[in-house]
Amino acid sequence: MMFALNNPEGAKVLTKVLTKVGEECAEVLQELAKIQLWGLWSAHPSEPHKGTNQQRLERELGDLMYWIERADQLGLVNKQMVGHWAAVKEREMAPEPAR
Ligand SMILES: [Mg+2]
Repeated sequence: MMFALNNPEGAKVLTKVLTKVGEECAEVLQELAKIQLWGLWSAHPSEPHKGTNQQRLERELGDLMYWIERADQLGLVNKQMVGHWAAVKEREMAPEPAR
């Protein structure tokens, strides 16, 4: 569905969804920083119920995927193009064939 940007409500939704994508990116970065500092399998001593850093990273990646999905549903990004670029990256990351 293409999203109507030519009205104030549409612009508000666009801003919210894209801001949420950015917010979740920041939360993923925060979890990655914790992993660098404290390790993948450690948990915050005062918040053990919130899981290990690995589990918290998985949750934030899930949040990010949700907002990417919403952006696709609203026509703000095209998931097929996201998939295309993921495939391009996969090819770029493939090891060079031995000569
Ligand atoms: Mg989050």
